[in-house]
Parts: sequence; C-alpha cells; structure tokens
Amino acid sequence: MVTGRFGGTRLARAGAGVTAAALLAACATEQAKEPGSASSPAASQRPQPSAQELGPPGATPRAGEVGRIPPSGSLPPVISSIPTQRKVVFLTIDDGWEQDPGFVRQVREQRIPITAFVMRDAVEALGAPDPAGGQGRFVGRGKWGYVRRLRDAGVPIENHTLTHPNLRTLGYQAQKAELCGTSRLIAKQVGVRPTLFRPPFGNYNADTRRAAKACGLDALLLWTATVQPGGKIAYQVPDKRLRPGDILLLHFRPNLARDFRILVDKIKRRGYELGNLDAYLKAALRRAK
Ligand SMILES: [Zn+2]
Repeated sequence: MVTGRFGGTRLARAGAGVTAAALLAACATEQAKEPGSASSPAASQRPQPSAQELGPPGATPRAGEVGRIPPSGSLPPVISSIPTQRKVVFLTIDDGWEQDPGFVRQVREQRIPITAFVMRDAVEALGAPDPAGGQGRFVGRGKWGYVRRLRDAGVPIENHTLTHPNLRTLGYQAQKAELCGTSRLIAKQVGVRPTLFRPPFGNYNADTRRAAKACGLDALLLWTATVQPGGKIAYQVPDKRLRPGDILLLHFRPNLARDFRILVDKIKRRGYELGNLDAYLKAALRRAK
C-alpha cells in the first residue's frame, strides 16, 4: 500500500508520545501556578491540553517557507537536506546498539524532535556493536521494548535494513528482502510501518530505490553532517558551518545522553532551531498544483 504517507499514519503514530508530553506539560503548569493545590477537585478536573494544542515537537514550516523537492521519475527521491532558508536543522539517529534509558527521558521531557532509523541486528544485539565512542553500557538492554519507548516519546521509527549491508553489492531481490523485511518487522514490533529509508553507509543504487518503492517507502534519507563522540559535528562542507535545512546523523553510541546534550546546546547557541522532519518533508514533497 502506498497511500497515507506523511498524513494520517504520522499523526496517529505521534499520538501516544504527544499525550505523554501533554500530561507532563500540564503537570508542570499546574505546579507553577498553584503550588500545593494540584490535588484540589478544580485542578484535577481541568481539561488537559490536546495533542493539537501542544503541536508536534520541533519547529514546523511557515507558509511558503519550504522549497519543493521535485519528483524524480516514479521512484522515491533521495534527500540529504531540506530546502529552506530558515535556521533550522534536523536530528536523525541510526542503528540502535546502545539503548540508554536516559536518552529516551531527554527526548521525552525536552520534547526534542528526532527521527530514528533502526537496524534489526543492532536493536536485537546480534553481533558486535560499532566500537566508536567506547564501551557500551546498554547494548541490547531493551531490544524492541526500547524502540517502543522511543516511539512512545514521539520518535518516528524508520527503516535502516536488517543486517546493515553495503546495498551496492546486492542484487534487487536481496535488497528488497532487506528493506521489506525491516518494514514488516518494525510494523510487527512497533506498530507503525516506516515511510523513510536510510541506506547503510549512504550507499545505494537504482535497485535500492526500486526496492524502497516496492516496500512502500517514500524517500531515501541521507545527511549533510555526522555527529561524533563528544557531540562534535563532522561537516561534509568545506566551511564547517551548519546550514539551514541540514540533516545531522547521530548513532546510538555509548555516552549518547551526554553527547546529545552537548550537541543540542551547540545547535541552539548557533541560533538554530530543531525542526520536525515529518512536517518539513511533508511540505517539501507536496504535489505540484
Ligand atoms: Zn547505520
């Protein structure tokens, strides 16, 4: 099925996390305004703000702000940045080896917009994790339960293959087995079917795009800069600066919660907002009138 992308399914998917965040926000407001009276009948009967009032985490596009990513034939487009002039960047996180509960808390409590691209062998801790960043403390600690907690914190869960192969070395059928198998597994374990695909190592070919289409994926999502241990940004551009619309790539690595805090502070100090990737993609991929 190839309908409902960036529309109904996304709103439904965000529901659980937004509700939790709405409850947290509501509690904080009550405590701030009425110390000691939070348990009074009037306070407890006050309506909670709905998900709609709270809005999605992260900046959403203003009218006319986002340029259109043109369709590339009938195959899913390959996207590495969002066409906008606004100082907004997007956070994405790959694989799923290190499953630090502190990171989920951070994302939930601070309502940080992030999109996760998970890979089966990392989530299930099959094999050896990426050694970058040192010794992991939480490798495979929660498995799919960890991914479900991310989903509940409002994080879209997207497709990053089963085994992390270099797809350029595989034929069409083998690529399709990786992509469709991952989407099926995520749907079963997390309850929502992915709409985005991130190719391992950024390696793909025409067969990857055909396979993505066959598996119901809307776009291949690359990146403009990677985030190293310590929250250091490794740019792929010579002037070493963030640019509007950049997509940053992080990994589920040791010290993730600490590195993430450093990174988010750095981005904000440079005057950038964190954007809601779904909302921006929806605007960028809109159909021509
Ligand atoms: Zn990866």
